[in-house]
Amino acid sequence: MSGEPLGASNERGLVVDGLERVFDDKRALDGLSFQVTDGEIVALLGPNGAGKTTAMRCIAGVLLPDAGRITIAGAPAGTVPAQAAISFLPEHPDLYPGLNIDEHLRFVALSHALSGWRPRAEALLERFDLSEVRDQLPGSLSQGMRRKAALSMALLHGAQVLLLDEPFNGLDPQAAAELRAVVGDLAGQGVAVLVSTHGLDTADRIATRSVVMAAGRVVADGTTAQLRRLAGVPDDADLEAVFLALTRSDSSV
Ligand code: ATP
Repeated sequence: MSGEPLGASNERGLVVDGLERVFDDKRALDGLSFQVTDGEIVALLGPNGAGKTTAMRCIAGVLLPDAGRITIAGAPAGTVPAQAAISFLPEHPDLYPGLNIDEHLRFVALSHALSGWRPRAEALLERFDLSEVRDQLPGSLSQGMRRKAALSMALLHGAQVLLLDEPFNGLDPQAAAELRAVVGDLAGQGVAVLVSTHGLDTADRIATRSVVMAAGRVVADGTTAQLRRLAGVPDDADLEAVFLALTRSDSSV
């Protein structure tokens, strides 16, 4: 027996191992396994219904898997240390209709018992061009502004593992560029980032590696160059050609 406390692990970043989840008769996750190490930006790709959101929700601790293991910064998903180490931006973030943007940030700070959070909040408001609308309720803001507010909330507590589900939806080019820069900065500070996206150009631009899912499992995992070789497409093929080849054949590589 090792002297390690039960459930503790030396694994850093994010580890997903043999994840399974069935909804009624639909097998959404079918032995999903991959890792994101500290400082990596990994794109989670896959066709509609591949299981990306289900995987994200299990990792975030908001949906229980039927089987498998998830470790976040060394702690099992759903435990207090794991929840403290992770931040999740859902595909359709919910904001509280009665709280303005500033109050949303204060709410996150209180719920994570953050001290000295104000300068970071100000920097996020500034970076996402929200300073002027900080006193407004979500209902009076555009969809993109609401998404930027949810992003600011997700980035406030300085998570070690960051999950972003389709974060570029509804962002204008300037906000998208800011988000790419923020994600790059965070990875540079050692944060493990998992980004699910349909935007293959996004994956190509920000991710160090892509995990391609189909039918609830990984069909390919690697850099764009490695995926090209796995897919058997020419060296100059774009990621779309790679993606279509990998997900059409649905053969594990
Ligand atoms: P998309 O790219 O379209 O967002 P996705 O890769 O995120 O898809 P999921 O949303 O995880 O895929 O869905 C995977 C499968 O699980 C789909 O067949 C979906 O219909 C099913 N599914 C997901 N959530 C539920 C649920 N709450 N109840 C029943 N089936 C569900």
